[in-house]
Amino acid sequence: MGLFGFGKKSDDESEKKAGKTCPVCNKGIGKFSYNPVKDGELCDNCAEQVKEWWSKPLTDTTVDECGKIIYKQDMSDEEKQAELESVGGTKAYADIYSSIAFRYLDESFTERTMEEYGDAVLLDCVVMLGEFGSGDRVRFYHEGEFFEGVITECSTKDYDSFEEQCDMKMLTGEASEGQPCWLLVKTEPAEAGEKLDYDDKVFV
Ligand SMILES: [Zn+2]
Repeated sequence: MGLFGFGKKSDDESEKKAGKTCPVCNKGIGKFSYNPVKDGELCDNCAEQVKEWWSKPLTDTTVDECGKIIYKQDMSDEEKQAELESVGGTKAYADIYSSIAFRYLDESFTERTMEEYGDAVLLDCVVMLGEFGSGDRVRFYHEGEFFEGVITECSTKDYDSFEEQCDMKMLTGEASEGQPCWLLVKTEPAEAGEKLDYDDKVFV
């Protein structure tokens, strides 16, 4: 946007002057923009869209991942329904952005909590369709393999880390469509601390 829009210069002209093109939308990157990602730089508009759904720093995120995140925000209900069916779900699904074995979280958690959740996996997701709640039996899909489990804690994501969310006593117990969320799933799955791919899904 023409923040310094005096005179006749259009945004396009000043963007061309900067000489950089956003690798996601192919539009010019404004002269005063600064949105570096892991392997490039985004325009303000794309960076804004990614930040809406994405908790990791942009500098840890690739251009390819950014493109997928933006694409997913524009998916129609029919496309979401088709994606749900493609993974064998019937009610709801969420895209998993990252996962971590619970025991690798901040040591400030009490021992009781660690004992209770020690073998659970924490999924950092965005709900694409339907809703999730504590107690839901879910499956998650990771590189062609399925894992099953029960959601022990479910919460919308109001803080940057799950630890903070717990500390602030802000576990909401449910999350619905369009909301970034934490799902703590008691299960017997992935190797501790294993990162799941961007395209993985959790569903009911
Ligand atoms: Zn862009």
